[in-house]
Amino acid sequence: MQAPSVGGVRLPKGQGETIRLPRGASLTDFAEKINANPASLVQVLFHLGEMVTATASVADEILEMLGTEMNYNVQVVSPEEEDRELLDSFDISFGDEGDEEDWVVRPPVVTIMGHVDHGKTRLLDTIRKANVREGEAGGITQHIGAYQVQTELEGIERPITFIDTPGHEAFTAMRARGAKSTDIAVIVVAADDGVMPQTVEAINHAQAADVPIVVAVNKIDVEGANPAKIRQQLTEYNLVAEEYGGDTMFVDISAKQGTNIEQLLEAILLTADAALDLRANPDMEAQGVTIEGHLDRGRGPVATVLVQRGTLRVGDSIVAGDASGRVRRMVDEHGADVTEALPSRPVQVIGLTSVPGAGDTFLVVDEDRVARQIADRRRARERNAELASRRKRVSLEDLDAALKETSTLNLIIKGDNSGTVEALEDALMKLDVGEDVDLRVIHRGVGGITEGDINLAIADNVIVMGFNVRAEGKATELANREGVEIRYYSVIYQAIEEIEQALKGMLKPEYEEVELGRAEVREVFKSSKFGTIAGCLVMNGEIRRNARGRLLRDSVVIAENLPISSLRRFKDDVVEVREGFECGLTLGTYSDIKVDDVIETFEMREKPRA
Ligand code: GDP
Repeated sequence: MQAPSVGGVRLPKGQGETIRLPRGASLTDFAEKINANPASLVQVLFHLGEMVTATASVADEILEMLGTEMNYNVQVVSPEEEDRELLDSFDISFGDEGDEEDWVVRPPVVTIMGHVDHGKTRLLDTIRKANVREGEAGGITQHIGAYQVQTELEGIERPITFIDTPGHEAFTAMRARGAKSTDIAVIVVAADDGVMPQTVEAINHAQAADVPIVVAVNKIDVEGANPAKIRQQLTEYNLVAEEYGGDTMFVDISAKQGTNIEQLLEAILLTADAALDLRANPDMEAQGVTIEGHLDRGRGPVATVLVQRGTLRVGDSIVAGDASGRVRRMVDEHGADVTEALPSRPVQVIGLTSVPGAGDTFLVVDEDRVARQIADRRRARERNAELASRRKRVSLEDLDAALKETSTLNLIIKGDNSGTVEALEDALMKLDVGEDVDLRVIHRGVGGITEGDINLAIADNVIVMGFNVRAEGKATELANREGVEIRYYSVIYQAIEEIEQALKGMLKPEYEEVELGRAEVREVFKSSKFGTIAGCLVMNGEIRRNARGRLLRDSVVIAENLPISSLRRFKDDVVEVREGFECGLTLGTYSDIKVDDVIETFEMREKPRA
């Protein structure tokens, strides 16, 4: 049975119907869906021990709890679902359209992973250089985040696309955002070193994502290299070489000397052909994933996108994450202009009005207006979700705990490209200065520091970090007026060090007792004016006026925390009396002082933090 009321508040009552709310919804949003008065929801929550205002974003659990209380089945919709719904509302779906018959074979997209120093970067370089065709922009290739190479298999030209960031961080970051960008993983293992922790991690990531693996046994030029041992070791991870009866292709290479690179490319294609049927519809509006984004001084926001289906053309209206715009120019990895990009083709896109994040999906829409609306809605949603995660839950029972709550340093990170911002955030989140202080990144983004960032900072007592970017427009003025701290950096470790110092500075100071001196009581006088005066001999250290003291009798503490309120030598008031001298002193109004008592004095000093 459901209570008809909570704490005297009449409950809006449901029939168990399902209410869908976006993550970060407020009570007003909830009330609107069930046709109730927001104030009544505020009250209900209050009686359930949660203090929430009508317009504040509310955490998932609270929305669900409130729903249960009122007999509604609340479903908090994840950002992905919500995005799908958003696109639905524009009649757009993310995925291949049309008849599968019309789809064409697309090149495989490859990520190179493996343990540090096993040669991932070198291999990416070697493949890139080996494949520069004569006359192509002077043979110079640029790092745009991905590149495509041409290779020949059985007399047919077959391109392969490589994601140009080695390591599994990019791979997992994209996967975490639901963007599957990689078809094949090349796991590089150095033959002179063997399977290492990150090798295993990379294998796990690829296998979890159901991505077929090709193993490149690298550094076979090094003396003592033992490719057979690598094959042996990897059987443990279900990677059995073809020559041992398994189905994983192993290629022995030297990234340094360029040995067997063609064979590796071939193995990638053969693996793709055997395990996958990579096809896409080229005849639709382009969709895909953002590989990298940054702000270019001359060209503005620049993003490298990987077309996954459709054909991307100059002039298309495009939305990538919460950035929108029109493709003004497209440039390939040789710096050459392209007018069309087919599936699996990475291109740098110029013309967006802001910088999308790595892993953000992109899609082409009919009109600029639609692109802008989708971007706006996504931005608003992100803001809401940020607000929700930021809102402190203070309930009545928790009030005590809340008062003792750890202090939090809130940060907004703005940087010149998404990679640095992420790297900086990751490094900062790894800082650990103990349990009493917490670090929270409440907003991050690519581009200059805007008034919006400052407004966000005002509310929450936030430090704004600018990494290789500066404040834009009136942001500096606003920050100065509102007392928001902006710090600029261009070196990551320096940023980390400063934030670590700031965190340490937030720790409540720890004090320690430092003994100043001891004195023995030789005589006791009573004075009508000063109270009880102890005539003492300073045994060691010194006795200082206004220091704190304790009284010991036969080595037992009789009284604690007594002030040395007056201190005299003969008739003169003094500040301190040193070892070997006599003095008269009073311990505030404390009067139980006897001859032979010992007065120990000390000072509380702030302990430096390690
Ligand atoms: P990553 O950390 O996996 O990206 O490794 P790097 O590509 O930076 O390579 C680490 C070191 O190994 C560099 O000094 C490379 O020059 C070297 N290296 C890479 N491949 C080979 C190779 O095939 N043979 C030899 N001898 N050295 C290599």
